[in-house]
Amino acid sequence: MTVRVAINGYGTIGKRVADAVSLQDDMRVAGIVKTSPSFELDLAQQRKFPIYANTKENMALLQQKGISVQGTTEDLLDQADIVIDGTPSKIGKENKEKLYIPRKIKAILQGGEKAPTVECSFNASNNYQQSYGKNYVRVVSCNTTGLSRSLGAIKKALGITSARVTLIRRAADPFDDETGPINAIAPDPITIPSHHGPDVKTIIPDLDIVTMAVIVPTTLMHLHTLNIQLPKTTTAQEIQDLFAKTPRILVVESDKRISSTASIMEMARDLCRPRGDLQELAVWDKSISVVNGNELFFTQAVHQESIVVPDNIDCIRAMMQLTDDPLTSMKKTDQSLGLKKWW
Ligand code: NAD
Repeated sequence: MTVRVAINGYGTIGKRVADAVSLQDDMRVAGIVKTSPSFELDLAQQRKFPIYANTKENMALLQQKGISVQGTTEDLLDQADIVIDGTPSKIGKENKEKLYIPRKIKAILQGGEKAPTVECSFNASNNYQQSYGKNYVRVVSCNTTGLSRSLGAIKKALGITSARVTLIRRAADPFDDETGPINAIAPDPITIPSHHGPDVKTIIPDLDIVTMAVIVPTTLMHLHTLNIQLPKTTTAQEIQDLFAKTPRILVVESDKRISSTASIMEMARDLCRPRGDLQELAVWDKSISVVNGNELFFTQAVHQESIVVPDNIDCIRAMMQLTDDPLTSMKKTDQSLGLKKWW
């Protein structure tokens, strides 16, 4: 079975998921939806993705610009088995009510939507099977995906008594020339705890986690500092070995001049990853420290534009019941995308 995937919202996340879908042998891009002309639309045409417009008016606008448009979003949905909704926050919820439920088409929403909007939230490393055969699922945000990967691995191996996390968030994505701050550090939210902890609990429900967050003037990555109380003693080496064998976690070597989010992104570019993306969570080896035998600290970095891409692919397999085994799906995805070898 080749699953036909519609991409509604072809921006930062949508265009990356479309490319990832086109690399799979069990799914294909049925079409993408755009609202207006852009260089990204020109490139989508070159990639031979069928183009659809979100309204009849925009369809006429795109056609006036010489773009070959197959129809509107509704036409695309009629020819697809599942839709990836990559539209901005809150539009995904509206689309679910107005477009997806009436057409009985399965839909994957993104982390900008609230958890109650869907049947369950998804992270391939932790709760793949919960989404098996489901109709409406949310792939959690970039920060929640990163935290779920590292905390999920530690919890499975050792248990976690409590996790306290500070998120240092990038202000905007690199293309974004409108969002700030450009010369400030903004607690966001000012109130503590932040919403990130409860969001991680949509993936790992019985986790004692408290988070706080600030936004800083950078576009490259988010950075998290974690302080975890463990129910048993461990060593830094044991945690490093655990991460080294965990899918989608890359332990980066501080001694090899990987000293910041800038050098991590440079490494991703030198690896010739498409767009210079890094879909794995990066953890600095030397940051992993254990105090008093059971208090664990480390620092991790999240490439916000791409970390959720492999999870979207696995979520399609779970919802379409292509395999009920998370590792089978994750291996297939990671092989196709050229991610860290863990299998
Ligand atoms: P984006 O602004 O880069 O892209 C959204 C795209 O949707 C744009 O191309 C826009 O033109 C299009 N669009 C707007 N209204 C539309 C409509 N009615 N129909 C079809 N297309 C429409 O946004 P993004 O960063 O890709 O975010 C998408 C979702 O992914 C959000 O829920 C966001 O929270 C989540 N997310 C974003 C990031 C990130 O760092 N960028 C990371 C993880 C999750």
